[in-house]
Amino acid sequence: MSIKIFNSLTRQKEEFIPIIPNEVKMYVCGPTVYNFFHIGNARTFLVFDTIRRYFEYRGYKVTFIQNFTDIDDKMIKRANEEKTTVKEIAERYIAEYYKDADALNIKRATVNPRATEFMDEIIKFVKDLVDKGFAYEVNGDVYFETKKFKEYGKLSHQNLEELEAGARIDVDERKKDPMDFALWKAQKEGEPAWESPFGLGRPGWHIECSTMASSLLGETIDIHGGGVDLTFPHHENEIAQSEARNGKLFARYWMHSAFLNVNNQKMSKSLNNFFTAREILEKYDSEVLRLFMLSAHYRNPINFSIDLLEQSKAALDRLYNTIGNLEHIIEVSNDRESSEEEKEFLNKLLEYKSRYIEVMDDDFNTADGISVIFDMVRDINSNVNENSSKKVAESSLNLIRELGEPLGILQKSARGNIEDEIQRLIEERQAARKAKNYALADKIRDELKAKGIVLEDTPLGVRWKRI
Ligand code: AMP
Ligand code: ZN
Repeated sequence: MSIKIFNSLTRQKEEFIPIIPNEVKMYVCGPTVYNFFHIGNARTFLVFDTIRRYFEYRGYKVTFIQNFTDIDDKMIKRANEEKTTVKEIAERYIAEYYKDADALNIKRATVNPRATEFMDEIIKFVKDLVDKGFAYEVNGDVYFETKKFKEYGKLSHQNLEELEAGARIDVDERKKDPMDFALWKAQKEGEPAWESPFGLGRPGWHIECSTMASSLLGETIDIHGGGVDLTFPHHENEIAQSEARNGKLFARYWMHSAFLNVNNQKMSKSLNNFFTAREILEKYDSEVLRLFMLSAHYRNPINFSIDLLEQSKAALDRLYNTIGNLEHIIEVSNDRESSEEEKEFLNKLLEYKSRYIEVMDDDFNTADGISVIFDMVRDINSNVNENSSKKVAESSLNLIRELGEPLGILQKSARGNIEDEIQRLIEERQAARKAKNYALADKIRDELKAKGIVLEDTPLGVRWKRI
């Protein structure tokens, strides 16, 4: 059995065959570090983190590169607004990126290269393209000549004329053709710049990814990913630059994650319809956000709403309730031989595991993977109790955690979590009663009951127990 990937290049699901057996070399386009990231960006980061984790779960050694764009127009604008340097803005928001990404349980990349650290390689890349006749210089700018790359448009599945007709093109008399794009931009007044054979300037955006991918992973990589908005022109241009220079296929599999939308519009900074990841994490556990995002297939758009997030919170609580019960059962259960019936149940658990692998192998179908976990948990709830053998309880808990790991969820102990939450609700209820707000106190009691917790008011205070 092997993993299948929907390849945007061929628009087909293909069996994943890595360049080196059991290894994956993947490059994912990362953020421009001029601000906090929003949960639209977070979706793309989470999707590729999950794909990476799943490869690791299936025994692959993954080299995962995600860049930081630390020089571009937005960075310069922000630095000017704040009367500081581009470097200071980059340092600040890279630090903030790590805070939020760590909080989201996103594994650190093998390397997070920054464009400004690869200036020599970028300049060499541009020069090679000029020397090979794929690029031309005009007054210190360098442009890629799209007409020279015969396969231009192969990722977008359109030819140059069709792309030209569909694009909003600024007339720019420096370019030979409107579809030509900048590899190098001559310095403008007050902008940071680097020495190059074309004069002082800075790189265009597309060239940094081509350069860093080939410098860190080689001229042909296994997987290149990013949000679907990057397909054109960014990834199309990356292909053109890389394949023109190296004469080799750049990436064997192209993967694109769909948007997180709000009212069916892409969440974006420019539309101002965004929540930062940080805002959401102030109110919701990171696992709630992960469960929410991964409940959809990565190629389907998600329409974000707080209601849906609340549903994911309730769903996650159910899973942690089972984890809490299992933790308790493991403590009190008997370390005896499993009965025939229990052995059958242990086999059934293995069937859930096979089913999970089957759906996740099929283009990382996390939506179905999560359904399998819920089915399994329901089965565990009705089959495992304090009278079960310890082995059955332990195997159940281990498998929940094992299948949750590639999704970045279900790794915590429920005891601490749930007990803190119960304690908080009990205190809220006491405060409500003191304030004679009996309606609220009853509401909290019902909320706890829904979680399987009953309260007893005793002369010594409030006690709680599970039902
Ligand atoms: P940016 O910092 O805008 O270049 O975006 C960083 C990454 O987030 C890119 O891979 C984008 O494709 C992705 N992205 C931006 N907005 C969204 C969105 N609303 N939904 C999903 N991915 C997004
Ligand atoms: Zn990129």
